Formats: sequence, C-alpha cells, structure tokens
Amino acid sequence: MVDINRRDAVKHLGGMAGGFAAVMAGGDSFWEEFGKPEPAEYAQSAARRGLPPVKITDVKVIRTQVGRSQFLNVKVLTDEPGLYGVGDGNHLERVSIVAANIEKFLKPMVVGRNVDEIEDIWQTAFTSTYWRSAVDANNAMAAIDGALWDIMGKRAGMPVYNLLGGRVRAGTRMFTGASTRSLEDLEDSIREGMERGYQHFRFRGVRDPNSPVTEMNSEAAAAAAAALDRGVDLPRFSKTTDAYFIHSLERAFEHIRNTIGWEIELGSDVHNNVTPAGGLILAKALEPYRPWFLEDLFTVDDWGWYERVRETSAVGLAHGETFTHRLEWLPLVENHLIDYVRAHISAIGGLNMARKLAMLCEFFNVRTSWHGPSNVSPIGHAINMHLDLACYNFGIGEGGNFNDQLRELYPGLPEIRNGVRYPANDLPGLGVDIDEEVAAKYPPQDPGGNRGARSIDGEPRRP
Ligand code: MG
Repeated sequence: MVDINRRDAVKHLGGMAGGFAAVMAGGDSFWEEFGKPEPAEYAQSAARRGLPPVKITDVKVIRTQVGRSQFLNVKVLTDEPGLYGVGDGNHLERVSIVAANIEKFLKPMVVGRNVDEIEDIWQTAFTSTYWRSAVDANNAMAAIDGALWDIMGKRAGMPVYNLLGGRVRAGTRMFTGASTRSLEDLEDSIREGMERGYQHFRFRGVRDPNSPVTEMNSEAAAAAAAALDRGVDLPRFSKTTDAYFIHSLERAFEHIRNTIGWEIELGSDVHNNVTPAGGLILAKALEPYRPWFLEDLFTVDDWGWYERVRETSAVGLAHGETFTHRLEWLPLVENHLIDYVRAHISAIGGLNMARKLAMLCEFFNVRTSWHGPSNVSPIGHAINMHLDLACYNFGIGEGGNFNDQLRELYPGLPEIRNGVRYPANDLPGLGVDIDEEVAAKYPPQDPGGNRGARSIDGEPRRP
C-alpha cells in the first residue's frame, strides 16, 4: 500500500508542482494528498527531507509478571504518531525502584529531546545522579536507551544489528543447562540437549544421594534457622563445604567425559559457592576435563583472586553478571584475567554501554556471553542478540527459550533452532514489540525481591 502511494506520488509529480514544492519544503500537504505511509517510513522520509528532528513525547513504563518472572519494559513515544521504541530495564530485585526512577527523573529529562541523540542522552542520564552506576539507575537508563536504538533502527529502516556494524554471523550459538539430580540424569539430559542441537552445557555438581553430609547440612541449616529465630524466611542456604562442592562438580564432569566424550563443551556456574582457596582448588581439579568456562569462581569483590587462579590453572573463566561500573571490568579485561564477560546488559546501563564494553573486550580477546536467564526480559534478550550478531568477539549466548505466554506478550521474539538463536524477522529496529493489551493480563505481583544468601550456619554470604 505504501509502495502504491509512492508510485502514484511519483507519477503525479510532474503535474503537481504544488505538491512537489510542498514535499521539498517539508510540508504535509503532499502526504494529505496521497496518504501518509507507515510511521517509520514517514520518519525516514522526514529525516531525508530535513524536517525538524523527531522528539520524545512520553515514556511509558510497562511492568508485567509471568509466572515468577517480573519484567520492566518501556515504550518511548515520539511526536511522530505511531513511531515508538521498546526497551528493557529489568532489575528483578528492585523493579519498582527502576520504575520510579524513570517516572520521576528520567522521563522529565528526556521528554522533548531529539530521539537521535542516543549518546548525549545516555551521558547526561549517567551523571544526572552525580554518584555513578547505581544498578537501579543503570537499569532505568538502559530501558530508555534500548528504546532509542529501536527507534533509530525504525527510522533508518534497518535492524539494530546493522546500526552496530552489520551481521558477522547468521545466528548466535547458545548454551543450555542440564539436570543434576543424579549422574544418569545428567547424562540423559545432556544427550537430549545434543539431540536439540546444543553443544555447550552448563551444570552444577551432582551430589551423592547417600551422602551423610547432605542430611547433616540440612539439619545444620534447620538448627541455625531455629537458633537465630529467622524462621523460614532465610533465603538460599548454601549447604556445602568446599571439599564437597568441588567433589560433586568433579564427579559430574568426570562422568560426562567418560560416557559422552570430548566433542561437547562443559561449564559450570560456581556462583561464589567456594572460598577463594577453594576456587583455586576447583579450577585445578576441573582442568583435566577442559571446562570451556567456570563462571563466578569469586565474587566481584574478590577479583584479585583471578590473578592467582591464572597462575595455577588454564580453565576458561567467565565473570560479570553483577557488574555495574567500568572499574569492575577494566582490570579483569585488560589483564586477561577472564575469557568471557558475563555482564547483565541492563545493569551496566544498556546497549550503549554494552557495545563499548564489547569493543574493549575485542582488543583483549575476551569474548562476550551476556547474562541471559529468565530475569532478563524478552526485549533484553532481543538486545543481547542484536549485539551478538554484530560483535566479532561474541562467545556464547544464554537463555531465550520463551513459552507461549511470552511469545504472545512480546511479538517478534528471537527463535532458537539447533542450539542457535536467530532473529524472527528482519524488521527495522529490534524487531520485537510488547502487546499492551496482553500485558494488562499479567500485572506485577510485588515490588521486587531479596536475593541475599546465607551460609550453612545462618550467616549472610555474598551471592
Ligand atoms: Mg551466573
């Protein structure tokens, strides 16, 4: 329909001096004569004709909850009716604070701004809090930033990955998890994953069901909870010792190498469940099984231990899901202390910062593996994918298997086939939307949550 209008317009131009003049002058009478095209196409045309810039008119926060997953997304609306962008600012633990940050501070800052000024808007938002890189502020910025990239893609008439330099791969290889109820279960689970095309598997240790330690730990945890009078609210007891944690993981790796072999990649998220010394032992213990990555061997607070582990083991190291500031990743990247950067894109300030981090990593041969579990909203997954398609130093992707509810809520989501994630379309922008009518069926249930952890004795520990 748009093409017909355009053809008709060209055909009539010779005899329509007034219309032609109106187009050249940037007036709207031409479009009134021939019908206005789709919002993105009109915006592209307006940009070419030197019309005033498209302005941000509103930022709409859309919060949903599907099952246990809460999402915060925005729509950035513009003065071009129908032209908007969608973004992701999902900080599950403090989602209501992110919403308030956008509503009370960022929205008033950006309304009236030129939608093309992504870098300027990002930089001014970054310093608007004076103190840098609060994770809630970063997520709020990320939501608007992602929407601006979406709008820019729509105006340019190309997918966001083209704005980032163009596709260097057809799709992005993903890793998947595996069940660890027993060694047999783990093996079956990995074989089933291989049938679906996956080659990278991340799993935790397999505990011995007959181990007296498991029961001892449960009893100790219950005793600690009772003694401390904290009832059942204790989040996430870690019920293990270094030795048992290392042994459980080692026997899982050993079993898979002995039964399935060496043609797949194995990794694990240690999630700081061992002491720093335990981390050194674990890396050495697993090295014979060639892990492609061990994630979060230490907390971000303990990054100096990565220097030590590099001296004693050559396992692949992944770190970064709790990054919020450049000073956390700079020493790890520039000193070659990690192999995969695992930043959660919205937590570091969104696509605009993530593309810079990816470029930094390229120069040090560190690969990207953006954090991508279910606490990244589906729009966030689309952002991960666009960057991954364009980054030379992409390593491996995480997550992105969406159920029917999410596919209804977010039309245009990427698809995974044979363990590889592909865009579902080549639409301009992010290629994904949020259906507000469907969103209304999934209202958020709570303001966020707590994520702290405790040791076996009930003491707080760093997750
Ligand atoms: Mg992790």
